[in-house]
Amino acid sequence: MMAVPSDSEIRQAAAWLRSGRLVAFPTETVYGLGAEVWNERAVAQVFALKNRPRFDPLIVHIAAREQLQELVQAIPDEAQRLIDRFWPGPLTLVLPKSERVPDLVTAGLSTVAIRQPAHPVALRFLAEAGVPVAAPSANRFGGISPTTAEHVRGQFPSDQVLVLDGGPCPVGIESTVVACAGGVWQVLRHGGTPIEELQRVLGTVTEAISVTDRPLAPGQLARHYAPATPLVVLAEGIPAGAESLRLGLLAMDGSAERLELFQHVELLSERRDLTEAASRLFAAMRRLDAAGLDLIVARPVPEQGLGRAIMDRLRRASSRASPERPEAIR
Ligand code: AMP
Ligand code: MG
Repeated sequence: MMAVPSDSEIRQAAAWLRSGRLVAFPTETVYGLGAEVWNERAVAQVFALKNRPRFDPLIVHIAAREQLQELVQAIPDEAQRLIDRFWPGPLTLVLPKSERVPDLVTAGLSTVAIRQPAHPVALRFLAEAGVPVAAPSANRFGGISPTTAEHVRGQFPSDQVLVLDGGPCPVGIESTVVACAGGVWQVLRHGGTPIEELQRVLGTVTEAISVTDRPLAPGQLARHYAPATPLVVLAEGIPAGAESLRLGLLAMDGSAERLELFQHVELLSERRDLTEAASRLFAAMRRLDAAGLDLIVARPVPEQGLGRAIMDRLRRASSRASPERPEAIR
């Protein structure tokens, strides 16, 4: 499969976007479902097609740093240092928004989340579009994020969403989201840029990750990134009484496993490389979900570097809490 769109395909996608329709496009993290940021009807359509609650703000994607001017009020020095070091790349900055950014994009917050993605197809598309593009992951809300164009196709009506194919996403896990609150930089979501790298640039960076059913800040819902099949995170063995169930295994490598216990096994990195594991995580979760299992057993990974983002996704995938079932918080 040729996964490099031609210039005319890029032009067509940009024109489609500017006409108020949506474009699913590859980034280095996951595929995004994009709308022109200034077009509130198109942005509303993103929420509708994803079934995403309006309180969960979108990340705005830009091709060039100059586009920041129309989106934010100011760029603090430390934000500029992060931009210089990490853009283009999997780091999203939350900054005070300009008046022009529609409230729908930011879920009514006075801040806007922005990043410049590193994927060449994303950059070509965003540059050709010439407008910032608000885009969450191109999947139904709460489900597993798409890391190939195949994962996106068939999810949304083709008369409304054009899918640009850029092949598999190289990072494979969402961007790290950072904000500055009262002079302190905080990671709001672990992702493709490890907190250790941010600390190297800024010194102190804290974590403000919450796992809850009633998010104070958006994007912190307990259940997210979740397969339909129940998933448990367990350091070893299988749950008591699970011998008769159809089990799947999601693990870094299989060396310490009794593989005969599992109907379907997904190994993320035999050489125990967290970068490789992150890039394979969501596709592996999808295959497990499609295997007709009763339960997926996921093994924890070391919580360092990209391992933090992987563990965050596994915990949310294993949570049974949902806005409809607040009693299920744990
Ligand atoms: P997604 O588009 O699914 O990758 O999720 C985007 C996430 O970015 C949200 O769920 C929030 O965690 C975060 N986010 C976006 N905008 C803001 C904002 N203004 N303040 C805080 N977090 C934000
Ligand atoms: Mg998402």
